[in-house]
Amino acid sequence: MRARLILYAYMVQSRAFIKTKKEAPKDEVSVNAQLLLRGGYIDKLTSGAYSFLPLGFIVLKKIEAIIREEMNAIGGQELLMPALHPKELWEETGRWESMDDLYKVKDRQGREFALGATHEEVITDIVRKRTISYKDLPLHLYQMQTKFRDELRSKSGLLRGREFTMKDLYSFHASEEDRKKYYEVAKKAYVRVFARCGLSTIITEASGGSFSKDVSHEFQAPTESGEDLVIFCGKCDWARNVEIADKKAGEPCPSCGNILSEVKSIEVGNIFTLGTRFSSLMNALFTDKDGSVKPIIMGCYGMGLGRILGTVVEVNHDDRGIVWPRELAPFDVHIVPLVSKDVKMTKRVFAEAAKMYRVLRGTMTVLYDDRETASAGEKFADADLIGAFQRIVISEKTLKERKVELKKRSEQKAKMVTAKQAITALAAQYRKRKS
Ligand SMILES: [Zn+2]
Repeated sequence: MRARLILYAYMVQSRAFIKTKKEAPKDEVSVNAQLLLRGGYIDKLTSGAYSFLPLGFIVLKKIEAIIREEMNAIGGQELLMPALHPKELWEETGRWESMDDLYKVKDRQGREFALGATHEEVITDIVRKRTISYKDLPLHLYQMQTKFRDELRSKSGLLRGREFTMKDLYSFHASEEDRKKYYEVAKKAYVRVFARCGLSTIITEASGGSFSKDVSHEFQAPTESGEDLVIFCGKCDWARNVEIADKKAGEPCPSCGNILSEVKSIEVGNIFTLGTRFSSLMNALFTDKDGSVKPIIMGCYGMGLGRILGTVVEVNHDDRGIVWPRELAPFDVHIVPLVSKDVKMTKRVFAEAAKMYRVLRGTMTVLYDDRETASAGEKFADADLIGAFQRIVISEKTLKERKVELKKRSEQKAKMVTAKQAITALAAQYRKRKS
């Protein structure tokens, strides 16, 4: 299965807004920000707020498409809520005072608003205004929308933003049993989203924090640069964030007795049991089968799109640049013709490359490096930094052998194949993916 995406199916490099840089800005310490800034994916406006440039926007839209497919597949219905929330709504749940990282703004008449850090209050307000009976439940509503959080430290590039895009899904149920069932369904969908983004995850169990005494779960992607530390069992699925665990690595697993290990990781998603916390406080009720009126039972399920993107870069890179997983790569193929000393030969090389570009762009996403002013070294450095899934090099040398060089970004060695073989092999890969 492949996320449908028609945006930016192909691009000519000389005209594309891709300004790569040799050096990252000195104030960026995280690998994801360094590589994404150097590769022309993002621009930093201020601490914790980044623009997604055309390349970054393609990857963001791919993540969005994957999430949308997986959320729709578990009964999610997409909507869009405002970022501007009246103070009164947040006062109903007491979170106007209790949430430290809430951005608060005043309008010119002195009315106060929050810039949405999360949307439990707004979604609960939407649902309570409508007459809900047990027949309308369960209900699963989600959005992908901008959130604001007044973070004290936002030095981790896309991992910890003050403004960021999040997918938040809220589920509404008539019974606790039904909520629990859906919670497990959502858990599996989350694992699928991350796997399609090239991330393996450990699911850690935690208490519900500020929401509830009931459990919540974090999805942790193991990587050296992670800020979290996870204690896990390699044999069964027991796993905890070290912050809350009373176990240490080297101790036996409380579930199966196997020796526990630890690993650094980045939290890429979390899911919570809300129960009736919000529905009770905000009077969001439904009429049950027997005619009794009760608060609706809720769950919420979040993941940050930029955070996923940043984590993918943290996990998949080498010293030359980003190594995108197949489904997220901004381009399936990067065609790189090299300039020769002989002008006529250069013309032949570029003619061959242009022909290939025209053929391939019908079935896959292609970036064509048509620049005749860039050296081979510059072109290779850019190609490795940008990290398209595979690369085709055409040069005087390959042309003399009537071949092209084909290489995946993740591979060390290129294969020499005929242009026809390359086209057939690539077309077969992408036909297979679409079916
Ligand atoms: Zn175990």
